[in-house]
Amino acid sequence: MTLRVGIFGGTFDPFHHGHLTLAADFAKRLHLNQLILLPAGQPWQKAHGAGLNQVSAASHRLAMTRLGAAQLKLPETEVIVATDEIERASPSYTVDTLAAWRKKVGAHASLSFLMGADQLIRLDSWHQWPRLFDYAHLCVAARPGFSLAAAAPVIAAEIAQRTAPAPALSQHTHGLILLDTEFALEISATQIRAQLRESRATLNAAAPPFLPAPIWHYILQHHLYQSTS
Ligand code: ATP
Repeated sequence: MTLRVGIFGGTFDPFHHGHLTLAADFAKRLHLNQLILLPAGQPWQKAHGAGLNQVSAASHRLAMTRLGAAQLKLPETEVIVATDEIERASPSYTVDTLAAWRKKVGAHASLSFLMGADQLIRLDSWHQWPRLFDYAHLCVAARPGFSLAAAAPVIAAEIAQRTAPAPALSQHTHGLILLDTEFALEISATQIRAQLRESRATLNAAAPPFLPAPIWHYILQHHLYQSTS
């Protein structure tokens, strides 16, 4: 049987229910043997710190991704948190990441890269984006506020040509697009950071609905995102 591998990359600052649900949905629909959660390295243009648009230290994002991974109960799927990007000295392009994973999984594996619709509609700004399809399928979850109708004509053409149902992605190794048009979770890490910055939550406060409880407790223990003033 063909090996089916999904890669889900992100800043994961923090890892939230949107990430968890997206990963679980595609793992089930694609019957993934392996799901790789891939926290991004430190973006060179952003400094560490507590500001809304600054990215938390990689060690925190990795720890929260691991706590998120532990929430995924997927009998068919081995969930792996990969540190490749975090350990790399400089940020890498997704196309290079996928080329490296293609080498690891072999030419016969079905390899899928998971993302939200906000990423698909701006795909034409990504480095060498047409080459992504040489290595992997793209699995795209709808996201409130990001209509595929807003995609540039070049991306719309790829969507029209490559969109396929889930079983087709197992039968092919790369090059297709799977759209989850029903996925509609209005959650973003930016919004979560903004809400937490305003809050004065204490260590025993209940987790908000958009965060798994262990991640919430991690955030409180490490005073992430909260204003110190
Ligand atoms: P930020 O608000 O800081 O940009 P984010 O919530 O988009 O963060 P990321 O870690 O940047 O989180 O996202 C990783 C991946 O998860 C991206 O492909 C993004 O599109 C997707 N994603 C995150 N939240 C959702 C959501 N609610 N619905 C669909 N896709 C999502």
